[in-house]
Amino acid sequence: MTAAKSILVVEDNEENADMLCRRLELRGFRVAVVRDGVQAVARAREIVPDLILMDLSLPEIDGWEATRRIKYDRTTASIPVIALTAHAMVEDRQRARDAGCNAFETKPVDLDKLMAVIDRFIGARGTAVA
Ligand code: MN
Repeated sequence: MTAAKSILVVEDNEENADMLCRRLELRGFRVAVVRDGVQAVARAREIVPDLILMDLSLPEIDGWEATRRIKYDRTTASIPVIALTAHAMVEDRQRARDAGCNAFETKPVDLDKLMAVIDRFIGARGTAVA
């Protein structure tokens, strides 16, 4: 039996977090949720998820800085990070890339598109993709 892939959702907006969590669990992913950038870095180290969905506007430290720290730490460096943000400007996208984000999706999230991006990185459910 293949273990379900795990996703860490970093989102301070409870409604968004609940929605994402529900949709991901329906797809068979194991999901953990944290509400700020400090917790994101700590939890990523602790559970080493298969993928991280990172809101960029967060309390404590923002998603750019949290991603930088996650990518700097060899325990978590290889985890794909997908930035989720209402900041759709080209420079925000570039800042996200510079911080180490592997992909960038704008809010409000288009769930079908997001699922396609997730599948591209880790495959659907327990299906491993190289
Ligand atoms: Mn936010």
